[in-house]
Amino acid sequence: MRRVSTEDLRERVRRIPGMERLLAELAGLPPTYLVGGAVRDLLLGSEALDLDLAVEGDARAVARELARRLGGDVVQHDRFGTATVRAGDLTVDLATTRRERYPRPGALPEVEPASLAEDLRRRDFTINAMAVALRGDELGHLHDPFGGLEDLRRGLIRVLHDQSFIDDPTRLLRALRYESRLGFALEPETERLAREAAARSVLRLVSGPRVRDELLPLLEEIELIPRALRRMRELGLDRSLHPALTADPQLAADAALAADVVGASRRLSALAALLARDPEAAREWLEELGLRAPEREAVQRAARHGRQLATLLGIGELRPSQVYELLAPEPPEALAVALALGAPQRPIVDFVERLRPVRLEIGGEDLRAAGIPESPAIGAALREVLRRKLDGEISGREDELRLALEVARRAQEAGAHERQRGMGG
Ligand code: ATP
Repeated sequence: MRRVSTEDLRERVRRIPGMERLLAELAGLPPTYLVGGAVRDLLLGSEALDLDLAVEGDARAVARELARRLGGDVVQHDRFGTATVRAGDLTVDLATTRRERYPRPGALPEVEPASLAEDLRRRDFTINAMAVALRGDELGHLHDPFGGLEDLRRGLIRVLHDQSFIDDPTRLLRALRYESRLGFALEPETERLAREAAARSVLRLVSGPRVRDELLPLLEEIELIPRALRRMRELGLDRSLHPALTADPQLAADAALAADVVGASRRLSALAALLARDPEAAREWLEELGLRAPEREAVQRAARHGRQLATLLGIGELRPSQVYELLAPEPPEALAVALALGAPQRPIVDFVERLRPVRLEIGGEDLRAAGIPESPAIGAALREVLRRKLDGEISGREDELRLALEVARRAQEAGAHERQRGMGG
């Protein structure tokens, strides 16, 4: 990365879509800076996607005024007094510069307004603790009190103080994200602090949803998973999250890859892979993450059944209807984990592509119309017809109806027989 001058940076800021207009409208408003990830990305020469602005003043008032001047919309958020302004192709999040105090490790911080310098001091890593001035003569000036630019050059992730991972253990997961996404490395002292914090299991002090929000993005991008999980294991972060978790980089990456094949969620499949060694032990941990119920259920089943499915499918040739019976009750994530654990591809791909979409052309109403009374015999008959259809023994509506009636009548007769025997003692 070559040296970046103020003029350079000013140019890069101006080239952000919609920014030129915003800059023009900042006149007369309190000092405002581009901060965090966007600055990092601009300096790296990549596109700045999430634009966070820090305001030395009342961010919500500035947001309302900007929205008015730009003819855009403003949404105010309660927490931390932040606001989002949307105008044309520009979306920016505004927050008042603030200092933070952590009442206890892992808790959300108490915040109060403070200077830009203090706002930068509360941040996670030096490469994220830089700001670019957006207003007046200062436009394009880089505020870099912790040597973030130098760390960007050297490819280093460095915390701002020794207490950082203890104050906010989610930074351990964020560090993995930046390491794998940017191809950076933890600076040696930061790595020592990370190992120390992991050994103290500080991540267990953090609420489940906060862990979820930092963990799941690590499991989304296939190219990033192997490195992130290797580091997770090396630093002992998996055990620090929960003793039953195992970050197996290959398994998680294979599960995410397989997710694409079977139409499952990558992140949920990879999460299930993390749990697969001992799903029961980590059950409570999973529940605390605060996933939506169907997602949690999918991860749980995938972690619990993936291995079993791989074993059963591996035993030998199964009929299509048997494959269907095995796989149909499972969420796609269970198929992804089974594949990652070495289940044969063919039956699973056959299930996804050919068997899963199979539907009968008849329904219970057809049987009732043909005189079969409402009874469990109807369901049983339809299931039998589906089995035979999956195995290719019948095809077409007529076949289905004939077979269904035959089975249902047989079941009825058998039922009547049973009842008679019952009455006869
Ligand atoms: P991404 O490109 O992944 O969105 P980002 O750096 O923009 O990366 P965000 O999670 O959007 O990451 O956070 C924005 C900024 O807020 C960060 O750059 C960092 O300065 C600060 N930040 C976010 N989370 C923390 C945290 N847990 N501790 C300290 N600072 C944080």
